Amino acid sequence: MSESLKVAPLKIAELGNPVLRAPAASIDHIHDPAIQKLIDDLIDTAIKTNGVGIAAPQVFQSLQLFIVASRPNLRYLHAPTMKPTPMINPQLVALSDEKVSGWEGCLSVPGICGQVARSREIEIRYTDRHGKSQQKVFTDFVARIIQHEFDHINGKVFLDRVESTFDLMSDAEYHTQIVCG
Ligand code: ZN
Repeated sequence: MSESLKVAPLKIAELGNPVLRAPAASIDHIHDPAIQKLIDDLIDTAIKTNGVGIAAPQVFQSLQLFIVASRPNLRYLHAPTMKPTPMINPQLVALSDEKVSGWEGCLSVPGICGQVARSREIEIRYTDRHGKSQQKVFTDFVARIIQHEFDHINGKVFLDRVESTFDLMSDAEYHTQIVCG
């Protein structure tokens, strides 16, 4: 039996749970086996739920950690495929003034998607799972995922970023109306 078959997806915190509204704590001991297991479980949960990103508060762990796992999907057909990348204690060091509007959904806000303006390019500094500091620039869909996940570790969800409630849709309506992202 492979390791992945033994791991059940983690339970997801949904909108209204206070854990989604609390600023998350930084992680001091990255090599702690509990932190390394949490990273593995988050990656596994993102894959099993078809998510392109997931943050620790979404699984009831109020810690500054998220996974970015871009791949092509119905909303973003041309999204790049990347190996699921854990980002620990992240800091956004630059956000472009140029913004682009795009549709987002969230495992913690089931059934709803919304149109959100995000910076087209960002620069992020974070610690990787081996404890090494990284600083990288991302654009477009990956930059969007990172801004969405960064919000989660600061107690925000995408609903806080929509300009109008007219920019919200049910998932079913979205799939009926929007052919591609
Ligand atoms: Zn989310």
